[in-house]
Amino acid sequence: MSVTSLPLTTRPLDPSVDHGIQAIVAGASLTATCATDLAAGPWEFDTRPGYGPGSSMGDVIPTGAPRQGELPAWYRSASEHELEQRIREAKAVLGDRVVVLGHFYQREEVVVHADYVGDSFQLAGAARSHPEAEAIVFCGVHFMAETADLLSRPDQAVILPNLAAGCSMADMASIDEVEECWEQLGELYGDLSQPDADGLLPVVPVTYMNSSAAIKGFVGRNGGIVCTSSNARTVLEWAFARGRRVLFFPDQHLGRNTAKAMGVPLDRMPLWNPRRAWGGNDRDELAGARVILWHGFCSVHRRFTVEQIDRARAEHPGVRVIVHPECPMDVVDAADEAGSTEYIRTAIAAATEPTTFAVGTEINLVQRLAAQYPQHEIFCLDPVVCPCSTMYRIHPGYLAWVLDELVAGRTPNRIQVPRDVADPARVALERMLAARP
Ligand code: SF4
Repeated sequence: MSVTSLPLTTRPLDPSVDHGIQAIVAGASLTATCATDLAAGPWEFDTRPGYGPGSSMGDVIPTGAPRQGELPAWYRSASEHELEQRIREAKAVLGDRVVVLGHFYQREEVVVHADYVGDSFQLAGAARSHPEAEAIVFCGVHFMAETADLLSRPDQAVILPNLAAGCSMADMASIDEVEECWEQLGELYGDLSQPDADGLLPVVPVTYMNSSAAIKGFVGRNGGIVCTSSNARTVLEWAFARGRRVLFFPDQHLGRNTAKAMGVPLDRMPLWNPRRAWGGNDRDELAGARVILWHGFCSVHRRFTVEQIDRARAEHPGVRVIVHPECPMDVVDAADEAGSTEYIRTAIAAATEPTTFAVGTEINLVQRLAAQYPQHEIFCLDPVVCPCSTMYRIHPGYLAWVLDELVAGRTPNRIQVPRDVADPARVALERMLAARP
């Protein structure tokens, strides 16, 4: 759908996805949302099992995942304006004692209060660059707050405003499943800690930033490394210089898209399903593997399809299609370009002529870019309004609550990675920082 044909309430000059969803639910917009439940406050779902409404609703939340306690009534019933005022007042009182970080995929009503906006790694860097702040309020999801805790000073408190804001992709690789996979690979390839005559390890584990600290710790303990969507190729080169093959988790699509672009044949990239013996593969497939891909995906980026790209090209001749590498391989192949959120932002910012962009990534970022660059026509490939529903759990009510708690001298929702996990996880992150193309 053309941006100009959207009803007023959903025109991207108002970058608020929430306003768009509220309009759809109220019947004031002709567009559609993936879940009308998204219009309700996240507190409606926080205490129930499962991820609640939206794109991740089919995903199974692990038992033991944190649940958010009940938000005091005022924060649930306050208007958008009242919450905005409250947040501004609390931030003014706290001053430099607090830094608020907002992820690119975060809802606009929260991002307007962020001191820094970026991807998970940029935000962890922002946390690190503020040693004077006593508290870092991370408006993202759980693994991002863990990474900020790993990279910030031990006495700084990293706070996740809603503990139920997890990431369905990160949760698809549990530490128990990964340890079991490692054990099975050891049975197949021999001692995984012993290099062969060429000095290469049988398997080097590589985890995407979108994974729990426990997985980053596992990787650090076993000679592996972390990657982001910006540096996945450099990191895979690092790993191939040290091992016969790579075990890549949790996102199969980022792993496949990156390795394919490096020339690794698809038949040397078996998929490891942790619920099946040998991951669902036979020994020959695993023996010839170059990259073993974990059976994980992002519920948001999985929604993009080749049909959407075909329709965008038919309706907007000359459209430039850019997608995120968490999209499935056929979508990346059909797009003009694929790259991280930072790549997408930079590509749009660098366009000197008015251009039509069809973007395959999270809707909050797309609508913000459309508002920021009105000289271009920018729209989301998916015509259905479907934000990252776990990130969406950071409602301004939760942000106002944690800031008020800090003003009162309390530290709510602190995310702390235990030392025995944090030390090896930092090793894996430092290897990434040192890796060069
Ligand atoms: S967009 Fe996907 S990978 Fe990112 S936090 Fe949401 S579910 Fe996780």
